[in-house]
Amino acid sequence: MKYLSITERLKIIADSIPKHEDLREYLELQSKILHAQKNHYTQSNDDAKTSWVDQLPLNLLEQKSLKNKKPIIHYLNLSLFNEGSLLSIFRKSIHLFISMDPAKKGLETLINNIDDGKISFMKLMDAALSDDITPIIKYAKKFKIEPDFLLFLINISLQPFIEEISKKVSSSFYDKWWRVPCPICGKVPSISRIRNRKRYLLCNFCGAEYPSDYFICVNCENKEPNSLNYMNIEGKPEFQIDFCTKCNHYLKVIIEKKLKEPIPRCIEDILTLNLDIEALNAGLIRND
Ligand SMILES: [Zn+2]
Ligand SMILES: [Zn+2]
Repeated sequence: MKYLSITERLKIIADSIPKHEDLREYLELQSKILHAQKNHYTQSNDDAKTSWVDQLPLNLLEQKSLKNKKPIIHYLNLSLFNEGSLLSIFRKSIHLFISMDPAKKGLETLINNIDDGKISFMKLMDAALSDDITPIIKYAKKFKIEPDFLLFLINISLQPFIEEISKKVSSSFYDKWWRVPCPICGKVPSISRIRNRKRYLLCNFCGAEYPSDYFICVNCENKEPNSLNYMNIEGKPEFQIDFCTKCNHYLKVIIEKKLKEPIPRCIEDILTLNLDIEALNAGLIRND
């Protein structure tokens, strides 16, 4: 599995816009978010923020994760992260969204409160890492921000660092994981690829790609083949929508051998937005 550099990703997005005018808005937003994160992806080894994963006992973390069936993120604590780097991305994304919608005044107040030391920024980050999002909901309400949107902004800040782990774990770790949630960040995937008759789940957050059973619902983990179904998309044999009749959740599927041109790793979710629309129209539910 190959991870694309930031420069490669930005180029792919720029090249995709003229081919997918209907998706311009989403692709441009993705590009702007990447710009906010850009300096924090590995490009050089000049400071701790770019080589932080090298300090982790990755082998040990992989063993613990496999033994206890918990994603690696479960064993990370916030002291491993560089506050300045996280805050820098957070600040850039806040300014990005304010520039797009000046009505988002609450964001400005939030960042001012963080700068004045009235709110602990790292407490917010910790909430996202530990999955107890109570402090996020509290501050979202206080500053009139949608809780999901605040969590989204926090995740943008964490993303380059978590992706770094997903790049550096061993491929045997992915092969041995064999569970539905992402082995690195624990998020439930909404998209998959079929390659050489194997199904791989893709994590939109950290970029992990890992093998999975063909017949399993990624939401409720139902494995009964007669309650797992799929939908074809008219005129698009390279895609299908797998769904579970028990919980009504779906998974987007890219059938690689039927693709007329490859779908790059970083924009699968955007380029398959039409599948989400088909699925939602059919009354199905997305995983995230
Ligand atoms: Zn992940
Ligand atoms: Zn299900």
